[in-house]
Amino acid sequence: MPIEVLASRGVDTLRFGPMKPVGLVDKRTGTKNYAVVQLRQDDAQANLYNLVGFQTNLKWGAQKELLQTIPGLENVNIVRYGVMHQNTFINSPKVLNPSFQSRKNPNIFFAGQITGTEGYTESIAGGLLTGINMARYLNNQELLTLPQTTMLGALTAYISCPEHTSFQPINSNWGIIATMEMDRKTRKDKKLKNQLYAQRAIDEIQKFHP
Ligand SMILES: Cc1cc2nc3c(=O)[nH]c(=O)nc-3n(C[C@H](O)[C@H](O)[C@H](O)COP(=O)(O)OP(=O)(O)OC[C@H]3O[C@@H](n4cnc5c(N)ncnc54)[C@H](O)[C@@H]3O)c2cc1C
Repeated sequence: MPIEVLASRGVDTLRFGPMKPVGLVDKRTGTKNYAVVQLRQDDAQANLYNLVGFQTNLKWGAQKELLQTIPGLENVNIVRYGVMHQNTFINSPKVLNPSFQSRKNPNIFFAGQITGTEGYTESIAGGLLTGINMARYLNNQELLTLPQTTMLGALTAYISCPEHTSFQPINSNWGIIATMEMDRKTRKDKKLKNQLYAQRAIDEIQKFHP
């Protein structure tokens, strides 16, 4: 979502979104910050920093003007301007099975965000499963398909479900995990509920340990 679209939704939208100051107190005054931006070091010499969490279609002049209004960045030297990030991904529901293997060409496997999963851990976990499955394929072993009670199993089921009509990349989230029977009181206790889901996933994934 471009920052200018978020900003147009209301004066407070950004500070409850990517500029949320949760847990950040101004050490000089002891007061909670109104809104913050995060700078992430981008080179070993600490000369370059990138502004985390923003995408934009703003023209470069407008970006410069805007950035210079941020306290501390009045004299910022911008070496690369912000753009909209676009993910390239294959139509996994049509072409992949839940083992990250091409349905049509079984000797081809895909891993990472090109499959339509998004995020660091999603890519690492997906890459691991793909690697294991490629090795199993080469050794004429049955491929692993993880159960939907695990996050990776739920992700692979999601991206390879042929019924998708408008497929879009997805992150790990509890909404895709197979539901679990529990009483109403437990279901309402989000922390306990998630603990039970997580424990069930750990128990299930351990069955796949070699
Ligand atoms: C600005 C930004 C911030 C992000 N922040 C987060 C975050 O905070 N948390 C999070 O979980 N995720 C975040 N993500 C998403 C996360 O970075 C990706 O989901 C993840 O890195 C994808 O991993 P990957 O290995 O699938 O792909 P990539 O990390 O893109 O790796 C693909 C690699 O293939 C190489 N490559 C491409 N074409 C070729 C070719 N023809 N030959 C050889 N090599 C090639 C590329 O150079 C690259 O190194 C962010 C993404 C962006 C863009």
